[in-house]
Amino acid sequence: MPVFSHPEFDGHEHVAFHHDAKSGLRAIIAVHNTRLGCGLGGCRMWPYVSDDEALTDVLRLSRGMTYKAALAGLPQGGGKSVILGDPRHDKTPEMIRAMGRFVDQFGGRYVVAEDSGTSVADIRLMAEETRHVGGLADAQSVAAGRTGDPSPATALGTFIGIKAAVRAKLGRDDLTGLRVAIQGVGNVGYRLAQHLFDAGAKLWVTDLHAAAIERAVHAFGATAVNMDEVHALDVDVFAPCALGAILNDRTIPQLRTTIVAGAANNQLAKTRNGHALLEKGVLYAPDYVINAGGIIDIYYEGPDYKTETVHAHLERIGTTLTEIFARSAKVGRPTGEIADAMAEEIFKR
Ligand code: NAD
Repeated sequence: MPVFSHPEFDGHEHVAFHHDAKSGLRAIIAVHNTRLGCGLGGCRMWPYVSDDEALTDVLRLSRGMTYKAALAGLPQGGGKSVILGDPRHDKTPEMIRAMGRFVDQFGGRYVVAEDSGTSVADIRLMAEETRHVGGLADAQSVAAGRTGDPSPATALGTFIGIKAAVRAKLGRDDLTGLRVAIQGVGNVGYRLAQHLFDAGAKLWVTDLHAAAIERAVHAFGATAVNMDEVHALDVDVFAPCALGAILNDRTIPQLRTTIVAGAANNQLAKTRNGHALLEKGVLYAPDYVINAGGIIDIYYEGPDYKTETVHAHLERIGTTLTEIFARSAKVGRPTGEIADAMAEEIFKR
């Protein structure tokens, strides 16, 4: 399994593999770039089918965090970690503590937070082993009803991004009757569904877990659909909110929507897939731009947290996307390439 010559390596500063025999932890931490600040990024736990799949995931996610922080206007770099295992069956407190000690070895160059498969409770446990954690509310915040879970902010930021995309592509501000298909109604997808429902949108949902689908059907009158058809529905917006690579050579020709805007990381299987979307006339909201709400929220976490300040920063996601869409239309280049160039202007400056 190559690392330095891995197609996703992209000049990473630090990639570390760790095995803790006692707890069974097998994990990778990747720090992509720390020019603007420490590498902040979530810890994903997932039953990867191979070590290579886990490495590819962590490298792509970590790089994405550098670009995400830069375009979100945060003085932070990019990093990410993955634990190889099924969060429903393999996770133990000992394993999570061992992960905390692994994070601590980075001495602050990597700061861990929640991601798919890890919760606020997990990060709290890691915090007993390292102080380099984000996404944890202090006592005052907890008293105010917040947990430090970044998902609500990610969902709100994604909703703001969907509104920007709808304005740019469909020329409308009113979401009443807007048809949206959501792939994955977990922490973010469910909350996004709530915002869309409140705004009058009609929803189609799918998930790996029947209970998650049921919850959304019950709460929002959503229509349940199969996992393999959600991307191909005749809707206005397709919102990927599960795991990555849903936009690929097989699925893009099947899309019937004209907007793809959702919270999942790494939605494009290959960077070149952005060209196919552009040629097909599909407006794609670059994933790391639209889903930056979580790291924005984590950045403000602390005793001075003010909801209005965070929400004002989240609104900037819409402004940034509007600029990306306009530049993309002007020069005829995929939105992802435009976003990358804008981010590089910031973190390579
Ligand atoms: P989650 O695990 O709570 O939810 C993901 C949901 O997708 C789960 O319910 C899962 O069962 C479902 N799912 C997985 N594979 C699927 C498939 N093939 N088809 C349909 N459903 C599938 O995770 P989350 O925190 O909601 O994050 C969702 C996505 O958003 C991830 O890609 C994550 O990296 C990204 N993201 C999350 C945050 C955050 O604040 N939580 C921030 C930025 C980006």
